[in-house]
This record gives sequence, C-alpha cells and structure tokens, in this order.
Amino acid sequence: MSVPSGRMPARGAPAVVLLSGGLDSATVLALAAEAGYRCHALSLDYGQRHRAELLAAQRVAQALGAVRHEVVQLDLARFGGSSLTDPSLSVPTDGLQPGIPSTYVPARNTVMLSLALSWAEALGGGDLFYGANAVDYSGYPDCRPEYVEAFERMANLATRAGVEGHAIRLHAPIIRMSKAEIIREGLRLGVDFSLTVSCYQADAQGRACGQCASCRIRAAGFASAQVADPTRYRPA
Ligand code: ZN
Repeated sequence: MSVPSGRMPARGAPAVVLLSGGLDSATVLALAAEAGYRCHALSLDYGQRHRAELLAAQRVAQALGAVRHEVVQLDLARFGGSSLTDPSLSVPTDGLQPGIPSTYVPARNTVMLSLALSWAEALGGGDLFYGANAVDYSGYPDCRPEYVEAFERMANLATRAGVEGHAIRLHAPIIRMSKAEIIREGLRLGVDFSLTVSCYQADAQGRACGQCASCRIRAAGFASAQVADPTRYRPA
C-alpha cells in the first residue's frame, strides 16, 4: 500500500514524518520518500523511559535520507499517567490484555501530530505522515482510522493553510497493514530494521527486553513475515 491515490503532491513537496525510532514509523518514512516528498522527520523527547529510541530515530532519519530531523523536547513525564513516563509504574510484560494498557501516554500522539502540523504549515507544506497501525497494536485510541480522519479535519479548520484552501493531508499509509505486511513493505523499500528500537524498556545500548507488548508484537511480525529478526535482545 502506498500513499492514497488522488492525494499525490508535486514531487519534491515537503512533508513532516513522525519518527519514533520503531519499525512502523521507519517504514512510513521510506514510503513518504518513495512517493517523492522531501521528508522532515520529527521526534519527541517526551520523557520516555530510555534514550535508545531517539538515537534509533536519528540513525533511521539519516539512513533514509530525511532532509532534516528535529527532536523536540516536551516533558510529558511532568504530567505522568503512563508506565512509559512514570518510573514508579512497571511496563506490563504479560502479553496483550483487554483494555488500553498503561503504556498509553495521555494524548501524546495528538501532541506530536500538533507539532508536526505546526512544522508542516511553517514549511509551506500540507502533508503529514503518521505511522499509526490499527491491526497489530495495543488498542490505543489515537491509532484508529476515525482518529486520523478527525485530526485531518481539525487541521484544516485550525490552520491558515487550511482556511486559504491549501489542504492539510494526514497520511497513515500502514494503518490497515498487519505487522508482517509492514515488515515486508519496509524490506522492499530497503529499511534496515536493525537500526530500529521498538521495546518500551530498551537498555542504554538499545537492546530489547523481549517481554513487553511492543517486543511481542514485533517478534510475532518477523515470525509471521518469515523474515530473520534483527532485534538485539539483552541477556536474560
Ligand atoms: Zn520490550
């Protein structure tokens, strides 16, 4: 799956791509680059448990030819409310459970998309890329297609670009793909998944725990795609 037809910009148009350091957003960056956008990668240093994913984002942005990579610091750990930002809460390691897990960070993706929108409008571009996935995921409300549509609508109401008829488009090209499909798509585009870090509690070297939901979904994706898993795991 590529960028939806009928929504293609002129080649060389700027786009802002949210980049977390994980494999989904790396694949989305590669898709945006393939579609001909000049990709501006945006990561958020929001007080997550480890720096490894931000270092991964930096490597991925460079490897996939982003023209610029910004890491915005905005400390959501001051609010807490998530096991990814509050060290007194532990990250669940017992597999996917019903309900929205404690690894949900209150409104984080809306904060990130709002920053991406600001940057895109400042660049004179109207294209945002978001690696949301509503198939192999943890049930986060801001990864659903309804959310993507609602944010795009809001973005067109909220900006000068939108009001003056320069439509803002929020692309979520992998939202309906399985993790295995995302992995195959990434490989087709030359994404080096060994550069990415998906684990919620990776160590300082970026080695994964193998137990958290993100590690489990990622490992199952490589197994299902029948592709060797390049993830580095820390010793048990
Ligand atoms: Zn993990």
